[in-house]
Amino acid sequence: MKVVVLGAGVVGVTSAWYLARSGHDVTVIDRQPGAGLETSFANGGQISPCHAEPWANPSTPKMAMKWFGREDAPLLFRWQRWDPALWAWGVRFLMNCTAQRTKVNIDRCLRVALYSRACLQSLRTETGIDYDQKTLGILHVYRDPASFEHACDAAQVMTGLGLTREVRTAAEAVTLEPALSAVGDELAGAIFTPGDESGDAHLFTRHLADLAARKGVAFRFDTTILGLELDGDRLASVATDKGRVRGDAFVIAMGSWSPKLTRQVGLNLPVYPAKGYSATVAVTDPAKAPMRAITDDEHKLVYSRLGDRLRCAGTAELAGWDRTMDMRRARAVAETSSRLFPGAGDFENAELWCGLRPVTPDSTPIIGRTRFANLFLNTGHGTLGWTMSCGSGRVLADIVSNRPPDIDLTGLGIDRFGRI
Ligand SMILES: Cc1cc2nc3c(=O)[nH]c(=O)nc-3n(C[C@H](O)[C@H](O)[C@H](O)COP(=O)(O)OP(=O)(O)OC[C@H]3O[C@@H](n4cnc5c(N)ncnc54)[C@H](O)[C@@H]3O)c2cc1C
Repeated sequence: MKVVVLGAGVVGVTSAWYLARSGHDVTVIDRQPGAGLETSFANGGQISPCHAEPWANPSTPKMAMKWFGREDAPLLFRWQRWDPALWAWGVRFLMNCTAQRTKVNIDRCLRVALYSRACLQSLRTETGIDYDQKTLGILHVYRDPASFEHACDAAQVMTGLGLTREVRTAAEAVTLEPALSAVGDELAGAIFTPGDESGDAHLFTRHLADLAARKGVAFRFDTTILGLELDGDRLASVATDKGRVRGDAFVIAMGSWSPKLTRQVGLNLPVYPAKGYSATVAVTDPAKAPMRAITDDEHKLVYSRLGDRLRCAGTAELAGWDRTMDMRRARAVAETSSRLFPGAGDFENAELWCGLRPVTPDSTPIIGRTRFANLFLNTGHGTLGWTMSCGSGRVLADIVSNRPPDIDLTGLGIDRFGRI
């Protein structure tokens, strides 16, 4: 079957890889000159099922009020904008902030994330792909005792769902990661997830695209997708600035831009962009830079050691599809990081970047069929697109190939939002 994948971010490329492995003739289209150059470019680098607790949870409305109006807030809603997509998304988000919905959404995210981590490990064994990966776990540190207590409860829920999470004292956290010694006295405690990993998502996406090309996948870069062309209840072709591309099946993996395209055929995907920032720092004193991936709960920042670089990333701003870099927010990431790991690297000259996470109101990706027989979705991976990419690509290939997937897909499809 000829399958056309729209988007060459980490989700599009993993989809293409598993589709090609299933014997399909695959073409990938992207407006960029290469793979993984938009949101998958300089993210936090964490393969983190441990972050499966959704943004929409009972404590978020209270935190959002606390942060209201603060330009340096870790989560910034620009409600003052008249943006119907944001308001509609926000209502759905609030509806997911109950304890019961949070539990359902953790289960769904964790199901994909754990499967995905296992798929990544198999893919590594199968291909030998290298992307500055580390398999030393993720250490989540807390300064506020109440937040730590809440996190211990959430950790217990995740342990019950199959993810090993270990509660550690502040002293144990510093022993596990000596680079935290500068702030050891400030910590209330930590939670360690030994099975989680980290690595450079862009390197991975680029290298996997190369491997996929060797398997026969055709990449059409520098090609902007303009529209979807229907023939009855099927998609016949995709219109691009370089002409029409026909196929037997089509996969939308365009991250935050997916809803812009699907709206043309009446599919209003509840995917909204959440802008985040990263700072990539050259490590100057390896002893002071962490080897393990770290999450700083108070500042909502994540850290990954990528070879001789330290990637620091986080913050979220819901303000539309504008990719302009707010230098204050970007520099704040580097400055906060320099206080956690003083002397570790050249924070002054950090490479600053921003990207738009494709976020759903329930923090769960949208994977599966649509009401159009040959149009499939693999989008809305939000804060965990790198973590969930291999598993999502693999189950997507199963769905397209009419094969039973390895995991239960209940609650992952577009149908969970009703008729949209
Ligand atoms: C600051 C930050 C930190 C993050 N940290 C982590 C982390 O530590 N761990 C984790 O798991 N996830 C993390 N994420 C989330 C993760 O990066 C995303 O979920 C993931 O990259 C989404 O991948 P994607 O392939 O769906 O989208 P993208 O990478 O955005 O790919 C979509 C592709 O579609 C193409 N496209 C769009 N429109 C068109 C068009 N009209 N024509 C042609 N091509 C088009 C784009 O060029 C792009 O290549 C982070 C994100 C941010 C912003």
